[in-house]
Amino acid sequence: MTPLTVQETERILSFLEARLEPKVYDTWCRSLRIEAVDDRSVRVPTANPYYRSWLEKLLKKPLEDAFSELFGRVPEIVFEVGGTDPASAPPAPAPLPEPPVPAPPAAPSPDFVFNPAYTFENFIAGPSNRMAYAAAVAVSENPATLYNPLFIHGGVGLGKTHLLQAICDGILKRNPAAKVLYLSCEDFVNGYIYAIQKKSLEAFRARHRNADVLVVDDIHFLVDKEGSQEEFFHTFNTLHLAGRQVILSSDQPAQDIRSLKQQLLSRFRSGFDAKIMPPTFETRLAILRKKADAKWKDVPQDVLAFIASAVETNIRELEGALTKVMGYAALSGRPVGLDLAREVLRDTPAPSPSPLTIAEIQQTVARYFNKKVTELQSRRWTKSTSLARQVCIYLCRKFTGFSLSELGSHFGDKDHTTMLYSIRKVEKLIAKNPTIRGDVERLVRELTGK
Ligand code: ADP
Ligand code: MG
Repeated sequence: MTPLTVQETERILSFLEARLEPKVYDTWCRSLRIEAVDDRSVRVPTANPYYRSWLEKLLKKPLEDAFSELFGRVPEIVFEVGGTDPASAPPAPAPLPEPPVPAPPAAPSPDFVFNPAYTFENFIAGPSNRMAYAAAVAVSENPATLYNPLFIHGGVGLGKTHLLQAICDGILKRNPAAKVLYLSCEDFVNGYIYAIQKKSLEAFRARHRNADVLVVDDIHFLVDKEGSQEEFFHTFNTLHLAGRQVILSSDQPAQDIRSLKQQLLSRFRSGFDAKIMPPTFETRLAILRKKADAKWKDVPQDVLAFIASAVETNIRELEGALTKVMGYAALSGRPVGLDLAREVLRDTPAPSPSPLTIAEIQQTVARYFNKKVTELQSRRWTKSTSLARQVCIYLCRKFTGFSLSELGSHFGDKDHTTMLYSIRKVEKLIAKNPTIRGDVERLVRELTGK
Protein backbone atom coordinates (compact mmCIF):
# COMPACT_ATOMS: atom_id res chain seq x y z
CA MET A 1 0.00 0.00 0.00
CA THR A 2 1.34 3.40 -0.86
CA PRO A 3 0.25 6.72 0.54
CA LEU A 4 -1.17 9.08 -2.05
CA THR A 5 1.38 11.62 -3.19
CA VAL A 6 1.76 14.75 -1.11
CA GLN A 7 0.12 16.76 -3.88
CA GLU A 8 -2.85 14.45 -4.15
CA THR A 9 -3.37 14.38 -0.40
CA GLU A 10 -2.96 18.12 -0.30
CA ARG A 11 -5.63 18.65 -2.94
CA ILE A 12 -8.02 16.37 -1.09
CA LEU A 13 -7.38 18.15 2.20
CA SER A 14 -7.95 21.55 0.62
CA PHE A 15 -11.21 20.24 -0.78
CA LEU A 16 -12.28 18.91 2.62
CA GLU A 17 -11.25 22.07 4.38
CA ALA A 18 -13.48 24.10 2.09
CA ARG A 19 -16.40 21.72 2.65
CA LEU A 20 -16.34 20.82 6.29
CA GLU A 21 -17.06 22.70 9.47
CA PRO A 22 -13.73 24.05 10.78
CA LYS A 23 -14.20 22.09 14.02
CA VAL A 24 -14.71 18.84 12.13
CA TYR A 25 -11.80 19.52 9.82
CA ASP A 26 -9.48 20.45 12.69
CA THR A 27 -10.40 17.41 14.69
CA TRP A 28 -10.46 14.76 12.04
CA CYS A 29 -8.54 15.79 8.97
CA ARG A 30 -5.32 17.38 10.15
CA SER A 31 -3.57 14.06 10.49
CA LEU A 32 -5.61 12.13 7.97
CA ARG A 33 -3.78 9.53 5.90
CA ILE A 34 -5.04 8.08 2.69
CA GLU A 35 -3.36 5.07 1.09
CA ALA A 36 -3.94 3.64 -2.34
CA VAL A 37 -4.73 -0.10 -2.10
CA ASP A 38 -5.06 -0.64 -5.83
CA ASP A 39 -6.44 1.45 -8.62
CA ARG A 40 -10.01 1.02 -7.44
CA SER A 41 -9.80 1.39 -3.71
CA VAL A 42 -8.14 3.47 -1.04
CA ARG A 43 -7.69 2.84 2.65
CA VAL A 44 -7.90 5.31 5.52
CA PRO A 45 -6.08 3.93 8.58
CA THR A 46 -7.55 4.80 11.97
CA ALA A 47 -6.33 4.30 15.52
CA ASN A 48 -9.20 2.32 17.02
CA PRO A 49 -12.76 1.18 16.29
CA TYR A 50 -14.18 4.25 17.95
CA TYR A 51 -12.34 6.58 15.63
CA ARG A 52 -13.16 4.32 12.72
CA SER A 53 -16.90 4.69 13.02
CA TRP A 54 -16.62 8.41 13.51
CA LEU A 55 -14.36 8.90 10.54
CA GLU A 56 -16.57 6.80 8.37
CA LYS A 57 -19.65 8.69 9.40
CA LEU A 58 -18.11 12.12 8.94
CA LEU A 59 -15.76 11.72 6.03
CA LYS A 60 -16.93 9.00 3.67
CA LYS A 61 -19.23 11.15 1.59
CA PRO A 62 -16.97 14.24 1.53
CA LEU A 63 -14.03 12.03 0.51
CA GLU A 64 -16.04 10.45 -2.29
CA ASP A 65 -17.00 13.92 -3.48
CA ALA A 66 -13.36 14.99 -3.32
CA PHE A 67 -12.18 12.07 -5.46
CA SER A 68 -14.99 12.54 -7.91
CA GLU A 69 -14.41 16.25 -8.32
CA LEU A 70 -10.60 16.25 -8.29
CA PHE A 71 -9.72 13.03 -10.04
CA GLY A 72 -12.91 12.14 -11.90
CA ARG A 73 -13.28 8.75 -10.21
CA VAL A 74 -14.66 7.46 -6.96
CA PRO A 75 -12.65 4.63 -5.43
CA GLU A 76 -14.02 2.39 -2.74
CA ILE A 77 -12.98 3.99 0.55
CA VAL A 78 -12.16 1.60 3.36
CA PHE A 79 -11.76 2.88 6.90
CA GLU A 80 -9.62 0.40 8.74
CA VAL A 81 -8.22 0.07 12.23
CA GLY A 82 -4.48 -0.26 12.51
CA GLY A 83 -1.38 0.64 10.60
CA THR A 84 -1.50 4.34 11.38
CA ASP A 85 1.74 6.16 11.76
CA PRO A 86 2.56 6.99 15.36
CA ALA A 87 2.02 10.69 14.83
CA SER A 88 -1.62 10.23 14.00
CA ALA A 89 -2.42 7.32 16.24
CA PRO A 90 -2.95 8.09 19.88
CA PRO A 91 -2.06 5.13 22.06
CA ALA A 92 -4.46 6.42 24.67
CA PRO A 93 -7.97 5.07 24.34
CA ALA A 94 -10.79 7.42 23.55
CA PRO A 95 -11.98 8.77 26.86
CA LEU A 96 -15.58 7.82 26.50
CA PRO A 97 -16.09 4.65 24.58
CA GLU A 98 -19.72 5.25 23.86
CA PRO A 99 -21.01 3.96 20.56
CA PRO A 100 -21.28 6.80 18.09
CA VAL A 101 -24.95 6.34 17.36
CA PRO A 102 -26.64 9.45 16.06
CA ALA A 103 -28.09 11.34 19.01
CA PRO A 104 -31.78 12.18 19.06
CA PRO A 105 -32.29 15.73 17.85
CA ALA A 106 -32.76 17.37 21.23
CA ALA A 107 -29.97 15.46 22.91
CA PRO A 108 -26.66 17.09 23.76
CA SER A 109 -24.01 16.79 21.09
CA PRO A 110 -22.07 13.52 21.15
CA ASP A 111 -19.15 13.30 23.50
CA PHE A 112 -15.98 14.78 22.26
CA VAL A 113 -13.11 12.67 21.09
CA PHE A 114 -9.55 13.82 21.46
CA ASN A 115 -7.69 15.26 18.56
CA PRO A 116 -4.78 12.82 18.22
CA ALA A 117 -2.44 15.66 17.32
CA TYR A 118 -3.01 17.54 20.59
CA THR A 119 -0.18 16.06 22.62
CA PHE A 120 2.67 17.56 24.63
CA GLU A 121 5.14 16.33 22.01
CA ASN A 122 3.36 18.47 19.44
CA PHE A 123 3.18 21.53 21.66
CA ILE A 124 5.86 24.17 21.35
CA ALA A 125 6.64 25.88 24.63
CA GLY A 126 7.87 29.47 24.55
CA PRO A 127 7.85 32.57 26.71
CA SER A 128 4.17 33.21 25.94
CA ASN A 129 2.89 29.88 27.23
CA ARG A 130 5.65 28.43 29.39
CA MET A 131 3.82 28.71 32.71
CA ALA A 132 0.68 27.11 31.33
CA TYR A 133 2.72 24.40 29.67
CA ALA A 134 4.74 23.62 32.79
CA ALA A 135 1.62 23.49 34.95
CA ALA A 136 -0.11 21.27 32.40
CA VAL A 137 2.79 18.82 32.35
CA ALA A 138 2.91 18.80 36.16
CA VAL A 139 -0.81 18.06 36.38
CA SER A 140 -0.57 15.27 33.84
CA GLU A 141 2.25 13.70 35.84
CA ASN A 142 0.67 14.16 39.26
CA PRO A 143 -3.04 14.86 39.00
CA ALA A 144 -4.84 16.34 41.99
CA THR A 145 -1.75 17.24 43.93
CA LEU A 146 -0.39 20.69 43.28
CA TYR A 147 -2.49 22.63 40.84
CA ASN A 148 -6.13 22.02 41.51
CA PRO A 149 -8.08 23.38 39.82
CA LEU A 150 -5.80 24.27 36.96
CA PHE A 151 -7.28 27.27 35.20
CA ILE A 152 -5.77 28.14 31.81
CA HIS A 153 -6.90 31.30 30.10
CA GLY A 154 -5.96 33.19 26.98
CA GLY A 155 -7.24 34.46 23.65
CA VAL A 156 -8.74 32.45 20.83
CA GLY A 157 -6.47 30.07 18.95
CA LEU A 158 -3.60 30.20 21.44
CA GLY A 159 -3.51 26.53 22.35
CA LYS A 160 -5.86 26.11 25.33
CA THR A 161 -7.72 23.15 23.88
CA HIS A 162 -4.44 21.64 22.70
CA LEU A 163 -2.99 21.83 26.22
CA LEU A 164 -6.13 20.51 27.91
CA GLN A 165 -6.25 17.51 25.61
CA ALA A 166 -2.51 16.98 25.99
CA ILE A 167 -3.04 16.69 29.75
CA CYS A 168 -5.74 14.06 29.17
CA ASP A 169 -3.47 12.23 26.77
CA GLY A 170 -0.59 12.35 29.27
CA ILE A 171 -2.74 11.06 32.13
CA LEU A 172 -4.20 8.25 30.04
CA LYS A 173 -0.79 7.22 28.77
CA ARG A 174 0.38 6.76 32.35
CA ASN A 175 -2.84 5.29 33.57
CA PRO A 176 -5.16 4.02 30.86
CA ALA A 177 -7.76 3.11 33.47
CA ALA A 178 -8.12 6.70 34.73
CA LYS A 179 -11.61 8.09 34.32
CA VAL A 180 -10.77 11.21 32.37
CA LEU A 181 -13.78 13.21 31.29
CA TYR A 182 -13.15 15.98 28.79
CA LEU A 183 -16.01 18.12 27.57
CA SER A 184 -16.68 21.58 26.33
CA CYS A 185 -18.61 23.81 28.67
CA GLU A 186 -21.27 24.04 25.98
CA ASP A 187 -21.72 20.27 26.20
CA PHE A 188 -22.00 20.54 29.96
CA VAL A 189 -24.69 23.20 29.70
CA ASN A 190 -26.62 21.37 26.96
CA GLY A 191 -26.30 18.10 28.85
CA TYR A 192 -27.67 19.74 31.97
CA ILE A 193 -30.67 21.22 30.15
CA TYR A 194 -31.34 17.93 28.46
CA ALA A 195 -31.09 16.06 31.75
CA ILE A 196 -33.66 18.37 33.30
CA GLN A 197 -36.02 17.89 30.38
CA LYS A 198 -35.62 14.13 30.43
CA LYS A 199 -35.63 13.92 34.21
CA SER A 200 -32.27 12.19 34.12
CA LEU A 201 -30.31 14.46 36.42
CA GLU A 202 -29.10 11.55 38.51
CA ALA A 203 -27.30 9.99 35.57
CA PHE A 204 -25.94 13.35 34.47
CA ARG A 205 -24.54 14.00 37.94
CA ALA A 206 -23.11 10.55 38.35
CA ARG A 207 -21.29 10.89 35.10
CA HIS A 208 -19.49 14.08 36.04
CA ARG A 209 -19.06 13.44 39.71
CA ASN A 210 -17.45 10.06 39.25
CA ALA A 211 -14.63 11.30 37.08
CA ASP A 212 -11.06 11.11 38.33
CA VAL A 213 -10.20 14.05 36.15
CA LEU A 214 -12.82 16.48 34.88
CA VAL A 215 -11.72 18.80 32.09
CA VAL A 216 -14.10 21.53 30.96
CA ASP A 217 -13.02 23.61 27.99
CA ASP A 218 -14.24 27.18 27.43
CA ILE A 219 -15.80 27.63 30.86
CA HIS A 220 -16.66 31.25 29.98
CA PHE A 221 -19.68 29.68 28.30
CA LEU A 222 -21.25 29.74 31.78
CA VAL A 223 -21.90 33.46 31.31
CA ASP A 224 -25.48 34.27 32.26
CA LYS A 225 -26.38 30.61 32.83
CA GLU A 226 -27.35 30.57 36.44
CA GLY A 227 -28.72 27.04 36.66
CA SER A 228 -25.69 25.53 34.96
CA GLN A 229 -23.38 27.54 37.21
CA GLU A 230 -25.14 26.18 40.25
CA GLU A 231 -24.89 22.64 38.92
CA PHE A 232 -21.24 23.07 38.06
CA PHE A 233 -20.55 24.47 41.50
CA HIS A 234 -21.84 21.29 43.11
CA THR A 235 -19.99 19.09 40.64
CA PHE A 236 -16.82 21.01 41.37
CA ASN A 237 -17.23 20.70 45.14
CA THR A 238 -17.94 17.00 45.00
CA LEU A 239 -14.83 16.38 42.92
CA HIS A 240 -12.69 18.67 44.99
CA LEU A 241 -13.69 17.05 48.24
CA ALA A 242 -12.98 13.65 46.78
CA GLY A 243 -9.49 14.79 45.80
CA ARG A 244 -10.07 14.65 42.06
CA GLN A 245 -8.45 16.91 39.51
CA VAL A 246 -10.41 19.67 37.79
CA ILE A 247 -9.00 21.47 34.75
CA LEU A 248 -10.65 24.47 33.15
CA SER A 249 -9.99 26.83 30.27
CA SER A 250 -11.45 30.20 29.49
CA ASP A 251 -10.91 32.98 26.98
CA GLN A 252 -10.67 35.46 29.86
CA PRO A 253 -9.54 35.52 33.48
CA ALA A 254 -12.12 34.07 35.87
CA GLN A 255 -12.83 37.44 37.47
CA ASP A 256 -13.78 38.88 34.07
CA ILE A 257 -16.40 36.25 33.26
CA ARG A 258 -19.61 38.19 33.42
CA SER A 259 -22.21 37.22 36.00
CA LEU A 260 -20.10 34.40 37.39
CA LYS A 261 -21.38 33.54 40.86
CA GLN A 262 -19.03 34.68 43.59
CA GLN A 263 -18.82 31.19 45.07
CA LEU A 264 -17.78 29.74 41.74
CA LEU A 265 -15.29 32.51 41.11
CA SER A 266 -13.58 31.84 44.42
CA ARG A 267 -13.38 28.11 43.57
CA PHE A 268 -11.82 28.87 40.20
CA ARG A 269 -9.28 31.11 41.86
CA SER A 270 -8.39 28.67 44.58
CA GLY A 271 -5.99 26.69 42.41
CA PHE A 272 -3.43 27.64 39.82
CA ASP A 273 -4.12 30.22 37.18
CA ALA A 274 -1.97 30.33 34.04
CA LYS A 275 -2.29 32.78 31.21
CA ILE A 276 -1.36 32.04 27.61
CA MET A 277 -0.28 35.11 25.69
CA PRO A 278 0.12 35.62 21.94
CA PRO A 279 3.27 33.80 20.83
CA THR A 280 6.51 35.57 20.01
CA PHE A 281 7.96 35.40 16.52
CA GLU A 282 10.36 32.62 17.52
CA THR A 283 7.55 30.50 18.93
CA ARG A 284 5.40 31.10 15.86
CA LEU A 285 8.27 30.05 13.65
CA ALA A 286 8.95 26.92 15.72
CA ILE A 287 5.27 25.97 15.58
CA LEU A 288 5.22 26.41 11.82
CA ARG A 289 8.41 24.36 11.45
CA LYS A 290 6.87 21.55 13.47
CA LYS A 291 3.59 21.57 11.57
CA ALA A 292 5.38 21.85 8.23
CA ASP A 293 7.74 18.96 8.95
CA ALA A 294 4.85 16.78 10.04
CA LYS A 295 2.97 17.32 6.82
CA TRP A 296 5.29 18.33 4.03
CA LYS A 297 8.86 17.96 2.96
CA ASP A 298 11.43 20.73 2.91
CA VAL A 299 9.32 23.84 3.36
CA PRO A 300 11.90 26.65 3.10
CA GLN A 301 12.66 28.50 6.32
CA ASP A 302 12.23 31.94 4.75
CA VAL A 303 8.68 31.06 3.72
CA LEU A 304 7.89 30.01 7.28
CA ALA A 305 9.51 33.17 8.62
CA PHE A 306 7.40 35.22 6.24
CA ILE A 307 4.20 33.53 7.40
CA ALA A 308 5.26 33.88 11.04
CA SER A 309 5.71 37.60 10.57
CA ALA A 310 2.43 37.98 8.67
CA VAL A 311 0.15 36.22 11.17
CA GLU A 312 0.72 37.25 14.74
CA THR A 313 -2.04 36.62 17.16
CA ASN A 314 -3.83 33.38 16.43
CA ILE A 315 -2.06 30.06 15.95
CA ARG A 316 -5.03 28.53 14.21
CA GLU A 317 -4.78 31.28 11.60
CA LEU A 318 -1.03 30.80 11.44
CA GLU A 319 -1.52 27.15 10.52
CA GLY A 320 -4.29 28.13 8.14
CA ALA A 321 -1.92 30.49 6.33
CA LEU A 322 0.67 27.72 5.93
CA THR A 323 -1.97 25.30 4.63
CA LYS A 324 -3.16 27.94 2.21
CA VAL A 325 0.32 28.52 0.84
CA MET A 326 1.04 24.79 0.51
CA GLY A 327 -2.37 24.11 -1.00
CA TYR A 328 -1.89 26.84 -3.54
CA ALA A 329 1.57 25.57 -4.46
CA ALA A 330 0.20 22.04 -4.94
CA LEU A 331 -2.71 23.18 -7.04
CA SER A 332 -0.72 25.56 -9.21
CA GLY A 333 2.33 23.31 -9.48
CA ARG A 334 4.59 26.21 -8.51
CA PRO A 335 7.54 25.83 -6.15
CA VAL A 336 7.04 26.92 -2.56
CA GLY A 337 8.94 30.17 -2.22
CA LEU A 338 8.69 33.68 -0.83
CA ASP A 339 7.06 35.08 -3.97
CA LEU A 340 4.31 32.52 -3.86
CA ALA A 341 3.75 32.98 -0.12
CA ARG A 342 3.55 36.72 -0.55
CA GLU A 343 1.07 36.36 -3.37
CA VAL A 344 -1.15 33.94 -1.46
CA LEU A 345 -1.16 35.88 1.78
CA ARG A 346 -1.47 39.31 0.25
CA ASP A 347 -5.22 39.28 0.81
CA THR A 348 -5.01 37.97 4.35
CA PRO A 349 -6.47 40.78 6.40
CA ALA A 350 -4.36 42.21 9.18
CA PRO A 351 -5.43 40.50 12.41
CA SER A 352 -6.96 43.63 13.84
CA PRO A 353 -7.23 46.72 11.70
CA SER A 354 -5.69 49.43 13.76
CA PRO A 355 -6.48 53.11 13.74
CA LEU A 356 -2.77 53.97 13.83
CA THR A 357 -1.71 56.91 11.71
CA ILE A 358 1.50 57.31 9.74
CA ALA A 359 2.46 60.24 11.98
CA GLU A 360 2.14 58.09 15.12
CA ILE A 361 4.23 55.34 13.62
CA GLN A 362 6.88 57.80 12.48
CA GLN A 363 7.07 59.34 15.95
CA THR A 364 7.36 55.97 17.67
CA VAL A 365 10.02 54.68 15.30
CA ALA A 366 12.00 57.93 15.43
CA ARG A 367 12.00 57.85 19.22
CA TYR A 368 13.01 54.21 19.26
CA PHE A 369 15.97 54.70 16.93
CA ASN A 370 16.85 58.06 18.40
CA LYS A 371 16.20 59.98 15.19
CA LYS A 372 14.17 63.02 14.31
CA VAL A 373 10.85 62.49 12.54
CA THR A 374 12.05 64.83 9.80
CA GLU A 375 15.04 62.57 9.19
CA LEU A 376 12.67 59.69 8.47
CA GLN A 377 10.61 61.84 6.15
CA SER A 378 13.43 63.54 4.31
CA ARG A 379 14.41 62.87 0.75
CA ARG A 380 17.97 62.31 1.76
CA TRP A 381 18.73 58.67 2.32
CA THR A 382 21.82 58.62 4.47
CA LYS A 383 23.06 55.31 5.72
CA SER A 384 22.54 56.07 9.40
CA THR A 385 18.84 56.74 9.03
CA SER A 386 18.04 54.26 6.34
CA LEU A 387 17.34 51.27 8.58
CA ALA A 388 15.04 53.31 10.82
CA ARG A 389 13.25 54.63 7.77
CA GLN A 390 12.86 51.20 6.21
CA VAL A 391 11.46 49.76 9.42
CA CYS A 392 9.11 52.70 9.63
CA ILE A 393 7.86 52.11 6.08
CA TYR A 394 7.41 48.44 6.81
CA LEU A 395 5.35 49.22 9.91
CA CYS A 396 3.27 51.84 8.12
CA ARG A 397 2.44 49.31 5.44
CA LYS A 398 1.54 46.77 8.10
CA PHE A 399 -0.65 48.99 10.24
CA THR A 400 -2.26 51.43 7.85
CA GLY A 401 -4.29 50.96 4.72
CA PHE A 402 -2.19 53.31 2.58
CA SER A 403 -1.07 52.23 -0.87
CA LEU A 404 2.63 52.12 -1.68
CA SER A 405 2.58 55.39 -3.57
CA GLU A 406 0.59 57.09 -0.83
CA LEU A 407 3.20 55.88 1.63
CA GLY A 408 5.92 57.25 -0.65
CA SER A 409 4.46 60.72 -0.29
CA HIS A 410 5.08 60.55 3.48
CA PHE A 411 8.69 59.51 3.01
CA GLY A 412 10.22 62.23 0.88
CA ASP A 413 8.09 61.71 -2.23
CA LYS A 414 9.63 58.39 -3.09
CA ASP A 415 7.92 56.16 -5.61
CA HIS A 416 6.20 52.87 -4.93
CA THR A 417 9.13 50.70 -5.99
CA THR A 418 11.29 52.29 -3.32
CA MET A 419 8.58 51.59 -0.77
CA LEU A 420 8.33 47.99 -1.90
CA TYR A 421 12.09 47.63 -1.77
CA SER A 422 12.15 48.85 1.83
CA ILE A 423 9.36 46.51 2.88
CA ARG A 424 11.01 43.46 1.32
CA LYS A 425 14.34 44.44 2.80
CA VAL A 426 12.85 44.51 6.30
CA GLU A 427 11.04 41.22 5.74
CA LYS A 428 14.35 39.62 4.84
CA LEU A 429 16.09 41.19 7.82
CA ILE A 430 13.37 39.95 10.15
CA ALA A 431 13.91 36.43 8.90
CA LYS A 432 17.68 36.57 9.16
CA ASN A 433 18.69 39.02 11.82
CA PRO A 434 17.54 38.45 15.41
CA THR A 435 18.48 41.96 16.54
CA ILE A 436 16.34 43.62 13.94
CA ARG A 437 13.58 41.13 14.49
CA GLY A 438 13.67 42.07 18.18
CA ASP A 439 13.54 45.77 17.28
CA VAL A 440 10.53 45.26 15.06
CA GLU A 441 8.74 43.13 17.64
CA ARG A 442 9.29 45.70 20.35
CA LEU A 443 8.03 48.44 18.07
CA VAL A 444 4.97 46.39 17.16
CA ARG A 445 4.24 45.83 20.83
CA GLU A 446 4.64 49.50 21.56
CA LEU A 447 2.39 50.48 18.68
CA THR A 448 -0.35 47.99 19.41
CA GLY A 449 -0.10 48.30 23.16
CA LYS A 450 0.30 44.52 23.54
P1 ADP B 1 -7.73 27.63 21.70
O1 ADP B 1 -8.40 26.44 22.33
O2 ADP B 1 -6.93 28.43 22.66
O3 ADP B 1 -8.66 28.48 20.90
P2 ADP B 1 -6.38 25.60 20.16
O4 ADP B 1 -5.86 24.75 21.26
O5 ADP B 1 -7.57 25.11 19.43
O6 ADP B 1 -6.65 27.07 20.68
O7 ADP B 1 -5.17 25.87 19.16
C1 ADP B 1 -5.35 26.27 17.81
C2 ADP B 1 -4.35 25.57 16.94
O8 ADP B 1 -3.06 26.03 17.23
C3 ADP B 1 -4.33 24.07 17.14
O9 ADP B 1 -4.16 23.44 15.89
C4 ADP B 1 -3.11 23.84 18.01
O10 ADP B 1 -2.51 22.58 17.77
C5 ADP B 1 -2.19 24.94 17.58
N1 ADP B 1 -1.31 25.41 18.66
C6 ADP B 1 -1.58 26.35 19.59
N2 ADP B 1 -0.52 26.54 20.41
C7 ADP B 1 0.44 25.71 19.98
C8 ADP B 1 1.78 25.45 20.40
N3 ADP B 1 2.34 26.13 21.43
N4 ADP B 1 2.48 24.52 19.74
C9 ADP B 1 1.95 23.85 18.69
N5 ADP B 1 0.70 24.06 18.23
C10 ADP B 1 -0.06 24.98 18.85
MG1 MG C 1 -10.39 25.89 22.33
